[in-house]
Amino acid sequence: MKKGSLNLELTIPSDENSVSEFISTPTGTFRAGDLIVDKNGIRIISQNEDEPPSLIKLSDNQLILADIDIIKVIGKGNGGVVQLVQHKWTGQFFALKVIQLNIQEQNRKHIAQELKINQSAQCPYVVVCYQSFYDNGVISIVLEYMDGGSLADFLNKVKTIPESYLSAICKQVLMGLLYLHHDKHIIHRDLKPSNLLINHTGAVKITDFGVSAILESTSGQANTLVGTYNYMSPERISGAKHGSRSDIWSLGLVLLECATGKFPYSPPEEEGWVNCYELMEAIVGQPPPRAPSDQFSPEFCSFISACVQKDPKHRQSAHKLMEHPFISMYEDSNVDLAAYFTNAGSPLATF
Ligand code: ATP
Ligand code: MG
Repeated sequence: MKKGSLNLELTIPSDENSVSEFISTPTGTFRAGDLIVDKNGIRIISQNEDEPPSLIKLSDNQLILADIDIIKVIGKGNGGVVQLVQHKWTGQFFALKVIQLNIQEQNRKHIAQELKINQSAQCPYVVVCYQSFYDNGVISIVLEYMDGGSLADFLNKVKTIPESYLSAICKQVLMGLLYLHHDKHIIHRDLKPSNLLINHTGAVKITDFGVSAILESTSGQANTLVGTYNYMSPERISGAKHGSRSDIWSLGLVLLECATGKFPYSPPEEEGWVNCYELMEAIVGQPPPRAPSDQFSPEFCSFISACVQKDPKHRQSAHKLMEHPFISMYEDSNVDLAAYFTNAGSPLATF
């Protein structure tokens, strides 16, 4: 799929005069100094009359915030708000993620680079990022809209997900990880149920890679903004070097939670975890969780332990896990994720 290949041509000014008109429109989103990041690179928008319009010429299929209507808020995370938005001229729906940051000027370039990485990803198992804007400490990211919401939303409704569906979900997540790890050399760093999005076609896609890197890199905000430590690998918690196998640990915990309906680590006290350090200590100090063999197939149990190994060297890669018997064992059972996502615990989260 070609990014930006949607029918967005109506937004594109066809000649240089209309470009300058477009930029100076009173409702326009851009102001001098605004930064646009897209697949062609990073550009500073200038409204300076002395500069020729060609300097501000927008690329093909450019999406701009002024051409978008906000429909409703569909989610809130630690870092910001996600809204369902509609493109004024094409009627196309998108999700607009808005993150407010208190960042210093020198971080702008770094953020722009991260956003560019975000946008360069093109894979059916990764949520498409069409455009990102950075303006005055606010990052707006135009994302593919996933009408089933997140796996976290879905799990809240259905409580547990049967193995056959989990196998089909897991296969798609592995394809996404394979793409990020092997083709793009990106580590997600924040794989969790709320960063796996689903839709009515039965698709499962990874989102928010790159965003966690931005939030971590903005000084002093890591603790408050990078939401949960729950799915973090032991080596990451201990501050050791971490790589793509950290994402595999998170995948194992996510699958186990979906299968059992509970987060795999339980607090020592009934009232819950006293603080996040207690949980972090458990992840680093305790043996890894396992799938109960009396409730799940040997293939599922073996898949979980292939992911949830405390030593990252003993964890399998996304590539190797694709060949695991758990991924193929339900292939002949006509698993219909589209029907499952649409009917189980309906209506879909965001519609
Ligand atoms: P955290 O901030 O701790 O990472 P989070 O991942 O839930 O938590 P956000 O990434 O801001 O936070 O997402 C909030 C919610 O918005 C998600 O749980 C999901 O329900 C919804 N959402 C996010 N992106 C999309 C999208 N592209 N399409 C549809 N819904 C989305
Ligand atoms: Mg998220």
